[in-house]
Amino acid sequence: MKLFVTPKGDRWLCSECEEDFRETITEEGWRVAFTKIDPMLRCSECKHGDIEIFD
Ligand SMILES: [Zn+2]
Repeated sequence: MKLFVTPKGDRWLCSECEEDFRETITEEGWRVAFTKIDPMLRCSECKHGDIEIFD
């Protein structure tokens, strides 16, 4: 998961959503604060984690 610094505040995005937001990231100049692999983190867009947990 990557923590992006955006004009509307920080938000976590998974790699899939990063693809979806690629244009916005470029247009608004989002900056990656840092990358962290943590199953407890949830993407702010799709609400999924880095690691899929199957029940
Ligand atoms: Zn996502």
